[in-house]
Amino acid sequence: MKPKNVAVIGAGYVGLVTGACLAELGHRVVCVDSDKKKVQTLRKGGVPIYEPGLPELVAVHRKARRLTFTGRIEDALRTADVVFIAVNTPPSPDGGADLSYVEAVARRVGQLLHRYTVIVEKSTVPVNTGDRVRQTLLLHGKKNVPFDVVSNPEFLREGTAVSDFMKPDRVVIGVESARAEAVMRELYAPLKAPLLVTDIKSAELIKHASNSFLALKISYANALATLCDRVGADVQLVTKGMGLDPRIGPSFLRAGLGYGGSCFPKDVAAFIHMADGVGLDFKILKAVREINDAARAWAVDALKKSLWTLRDKTIAVWGLAFKPDTDDLRNAPALDIIARIQAEGGRVNAYDPVAMTKARALLKDVRFCRNPYDAARGVDAVVLATEWKEFRDADLARLKALVRTPVFVDGRNALSPAALSAAGFHVHAVGRSGR
Ligand code: NAD
Repeated sequence: MKPKNVAVIGAGYVGLVTGACLAELGHRVVCVDSDKKKVQTLRKGGVPIYEPGLPELVAVHRKARRLTFTGRIEDALRTADVVFIAVNTPPSPDGGADLSYVEAVARRVGQLLHRYTVIVEKSTVPVNTGDRVRQTLLLHGKKNVPFDVVSNPEFLREGTAVSDFMKPDRVVIGVESARAEAVMRELYAPLKAPLLVTDIKSAELIKHASNSFLALKISYANALATLCDRVGADVQLVTKGMGLDPRIGPSFLRAGLGYGGSCFPKDVAAFIHMADGVGLDFKILKAVREINDAARAWAVDALKKSLWTLRDKTIAVWGLAFKPDTDDLRNAPALDIIARIQAEGGRVNAYDPVAMTKARALLKDVRFCRNPYDAARGVDAVVLATEWKEFRDADLARLKALVRTPVFVDGRNALSPAALSAAGFHVHAVGRSGR
């Protein structure tokens, strides 16, 4: 394989992992970010996000000069054969994706193009964005400089991002020219991963369709949880029984506080919005979203079932990140639950194994604690909001001795209701009232 010169624009969760992993595959990578502080940190050898395995990878390739960082896109474009656009695509107030960051990058790339380059959409974007990127490159670029636009959606999960990138289930490449396909095949050849080559629009749809389907599975489990509560069954057993069928599979069938993070909520919203735009009322996804909103309200309802009112009560919230093994707080159910407790006049003690620094910058009037037991001292209830291993392994007798009132709301069905009851807790678990 001939190593390629790669520019990755946007050095966030996706861009930085993509850059570091492409360097690991032997390519020369320049990561560009408009956030000066982020670039400074990276240049000094720091990694601004928590992602297992990433600091080691960045350190090795930074040292070998295969991975460099800059705030100036022109530095990266000078030599690039391939440019990845990996900037954020946050939700717009109308529910669609805000593509202004992608547009800004496409405009600048257009101005700087000087020889054949492959421009890759890595950010999650709605269908037809490839056309808009091409149009923008043509509008701002010099005449007669050839280029190709490619859609290469990213499926990595925060917390396992490096191994997801290095050992993917599939690499999807949406292309419109054999030349671009050859470049992308060469780029990914060392991965030896299953490659699906499609047209650009289909590749764009694959990403939104996949995330929306996973969100649908989670909401399906949560709808079942409500049913189980009403009839006295156990949703964990129901989903276990379903998941044993290989046509269904066990993953993403866990009832709990629902999905959060930077992807599922915005991608479901953007997919609904895009479908609306072409005259399709995507009712099934609207229901997915409604069920997810209700799942978040469940924790506070459960607290009130035991405590009646929350005014002047103190609640320990275990876990702040939207899922374990990440420090990402974007759209985390825990933040919603904390806001609801505070709105009802309650106080919050919070603890998360890695997201505390980011949480301090976001949350007001919360007591941040050193560990789960410190958070539980003298509280009226404990809410488990993120299923970190540390919480699953909690010493329940020690916990019981610390709390003022033994109420445990297990928002992730992470602990055994029987063990919690045996330790003396009043237990609320999602869809397990029969236990
Ligand atoms: P992020 O916010 O962590 O990173 C985006 C980065 O782009 C930021 O560092 C920002 O400063 C930078 N940026 C914005 N405008 C720029 C510009 N004009 N020039 C240079 N840098 C610029 O976002 P993320 O989580 O990495 O997500 C990026 C995209 O990937 C989104 O579309 C997201 O939906 C998608 N995605 C995310 C994940 C995930 O798990 N986070 C997984 C798959 C796909």
